Amino acid sequence: MHIASGLLLFLATLLAMEGFAYVMHRWVMHGPGWFLHASHHRPRTGNWELNDLYAVIFALPSIVLLYGGVHLGWWPGFAWIGAGIAGYGAIYFGFHDIIVHQRLPHRYVARSPYMKRIVQAHRLHHAVESKRGAVSFGFLWAPAPDVLKRQLKERGGSIRPVTNSD
Ligand SMILES: [Zn+2]
Ligand SMILES: [Zn+2]
Repeated sequence: MHIASGLLLFLATLLAMEGFAYVMHRWVMHGPGWFLHASHHRPRTGNWELNDLYAVIFALPSIVLLYGGVHLGWWPGFAWIGAGIAGYGAIYFGFHDIIVHQRLPHRYVARSPYMKRIVQAHRLHHAVESKRGAVSFGFLWAPAPDVLKRQLKERGGSIRPVTNSD
């Protein structure tokens, strides 16, 4: 496979993963999968939360596709797709777990309008601690904070103050 086609597949997978993550977060994690995700909407007591199992689950197809594409002689495109899933996982971890939830200490402060917007959007997602009523299920794509605040108000839920430790 030409490297340009591979890179294209990789980038397309990164983009598609944001859509996949949105769907999973909105209808699975805040649906039948809430029993694992609920831990992420409560203050964490140790280093880990049950919700971390989702990272393991989503890594599996990436590992299988990379292994098959690189070592088992499958269509090489599978390896690029597997790499795209892993790449999204890495970006997601950096944004969600490190920047927003500060699971590793850092002094990064969002300054660009885009970074401010996605950080604030995810904090607003955490303004609701229950399975229903939450807004903003995407991570790297998010509506403007004003839109999200209006949605929260319309749902009638009380918005608890959003702090840095969310
Ligand atoms: Zn959630
Ligand atoms: Zn979160």
